[in-house]
Amino acid sequence: MIEEFVVYKRRRENFVFEKRGRPSDIKVGILMPMPYNAAVSSLFFQMAYTYVNSLEGVRAYRYVFNLEEKKVEALDERLDPRKLDLILLSLPFELDYVTATYILTNLNLLRRLKGNEKPIVVAGGIAPTANPLPLSDIVDAVVIGEAEEILKNMIYGAGELNAFKVIEEISCVSMLANSDIRRKCFVEDLNNAPHPIHQFYSYDEEPIYGYGVRVEVSRGCPYLCAFCMESHVMYPFRYREFAILDRIIEKSIDVLKIPRVIFYSLSLFSVPNMDILLQKLLKQGIEISIPSMRVEHVTKERLELIKALGQKTLTIAPETLLPTYSCKIGKCYNVDYLIEVLNYAYKTGYSHVKLYLITGFPGTTMDEELKSFEKFSSSVKSIKKRGFVEVTLNPLIPKPWTPFQFLPPLSVLRSRHIEEQYRRIAKESGIGISVLDVEWAFAQAIIALGDKNTSKLIIDWALSGLGLKGFRKALKMADERIRSYLKNGWQDPPWYRYVDIGVPKTYLDLRARYLKVL
Ligand code: SF4
Repeated sequence: MIEEFVVYKRRRENFVFEKRGRPSDIKVGILMPMPYNAAVSSLFFQMAYTYVNSLEGVRAYRYVFNLEEKKVEALDERLDPRKLDLILLSLPFELDYVTATYILTNLNLLRRLKGNEKPIVVAGGIAPTANPLPLSDIVDAVVIGEAEEILKNMIYGAGELNAFKVIEEISCVSMLANSDIRRKCFVEDLNNAPHPIHQFYSYDEEPIYGYGVRVEVSRGCPYLCAFCMESHVMYPFRYREFAILDRIIEKSIDVLKIPRVIFYSLSLFSVPNMDILLQKLLKQGIEISIPSMRVEHVTKERLELIKALGQKTLTIAPETLLPTYSCKIGKCYNVDYLIEVLNYAYKTGYSHVKLYLITGFPGTTMDEELKSFEKFSSSVKSIKKRGFVEVTLNPLIPKPWTPFQFLPPLSVLRSRHIEEQYRRIAKESGIGISVLDVEWAFAQAIIALGDKNTSKLIIDWALSGLGLKGFRKALKMADERIRSYLKNGWQDPPWYRYVDIGVPKTYLDLRARYLKVL
């Protein structure tokens, strides 16, 4: 029963648009397949809600998903999503596809069954931009790239009688059924892009990363690390200038009345004048939360500054401890310097430091990986606080539009046996460790590197429940076409024929050869 699957659950929020609606309004749903406290942390959710409501003759309706109760929660009105004209579906990560498919199936809105009927379901996000193919039977269209510049046309297009045709003609929207290449849309100058100021949150449900104003500092990253899909898909690197950031922060704090800034950036200290901005916030008594940093970006001065700005933990992303390998993947740094940084962070009073590591790079052996981890672990034994250093270990997950895209999803399982050894070494040295389950990583790789046939696997998974049991069941049902890329990967990736990200294929080939992937 759809009435039971969609519940009206209004929050006590700091800010809600009170827009008088008319029956002729274009009704736009913003659907986040995640719980409320995660959804409000998305700047897309914040931006889309403000922007859609700012348009004449258009109304926005927000929906989130309660994972425990497996119900869609309508935040604005008791409106059945099937009565909408357009649904904007945010899918930042591959595993969100499964939850989204579960939702659309329960609403009878799966592309495969619905056909060209309204509402039009349009997905967007980094993962679908890189490879929209696994969504072929699931949604009507995918936005390739950044939506700002086409959102208005898409929304008014959804109000037309021939809405599907109008939306299909928008340059960076892929309707998937047709086979022409869609070129990525992107905002050339971030300084001119709208930024949400009136950010909503609930007084009763703390958002992930805590309360505060969320500020998007930059998009893309200048380093293009070999494993990093985000930096390749969001290429080129763009940032907001000091004066613009300063104004966004001032206005947002004025509206939200929370003196805390949560920075969104793939590489915060690549942005000019960031230290000056942080100094200014310190003088104003504003707290901050910053994302993970590259090793060489962490200096003693910054450690002190960030601590003084109220941050208690740090996240650093060396990704590998193999000195000969780090430069090859774009993470040049010196392990001795990392150890110095950890010692200084301890002295400065941080509660702990999280380190991201990846296991299973091609051309490296488990033996050398473990030796380097052992050496590192004995060097940080001087830090007496157990668990001060906390490693998050992820298997290498090959992703589209990176030099590792040619690896088969099965390569992820290579890391299955190394986990225990990492745990043993970490325990002996007082290092905390958390490891991403290799099966979840494998599932992620299958979806990331999928083609149109992968849609069926995702639908089977969603119909079998959202956990790993459902994944195993769906995998058993998978046909030979899926098994083939699972084992062999792609020589000529199918997403090349549908999207143009702006990254040259010869670069990917050459770098893949250099990294011993091809
Ligand atoms: S520095 Fe981080 S965000 Fe930038 S390319 Fe490397 S991994 Fe990606």
